[in-house]
Amino acid sequence: MLNDTVERVRWKRLICNNYATPKSKFILWMVLHNRLPTVDRIRRWGVNCEARCSLCRNEEETIQHLFFSCAYAAGIWRDICRLMNFTDAGGIYQDVISSVCSQARKKKGKLFVMFFTECVYAIWRQRNNKIFKGNYKDANVVLRDIFFTVANRSNDVERSKLLM
Ligand SMILES: [Zn+2]
Repeated sequence: MLNDTVERVRWKRLICNNYATPKSKFILWMVLHNRLPTVDRIRRWGVNCEARCSLCRNEEETIQHLFFSCAYAAGIWRDICRLMNFTDAGGIYQDVISSVCSQARKKKGKLFVMFFTECVYAIWRQRNNKIFKGNYKDANVVLRDIFFTVANRSNDVERSKLLM
């Protein structure tokens, strides 16, 4: 119970101290509270649908898989970490969320938090596009879109870090 309360305080800080777009913050909030309608949850409601991840077709679609283990998603986050010199928490949901929460407490962590939030939203959008429209963007295009969104919401000092 106590852990649950501590967790919720951390999540609240992560959403409040976050300069990402409102849409992407909403999707991150849904992820944290396990409210996103991923296929594993939809199937638990008794709906018979394709269990595998629509982006890679390799494993069941869960939060852990879709955002952290899927080759498509993990590749985008790994590239962001490499380009921005961020420490990659290694693809385990709880570890990544912990590291993002601790970054949200620091002024220096603003870009990290923004990138992570926009990345989650971008992946969710590509997943929906694949399921409902049958196509999704190449990871490099998504990466470029994320950089563009973050740059638009940054100040001059932060933007210069994006160009280095
Ligand atoms: Zn996948």
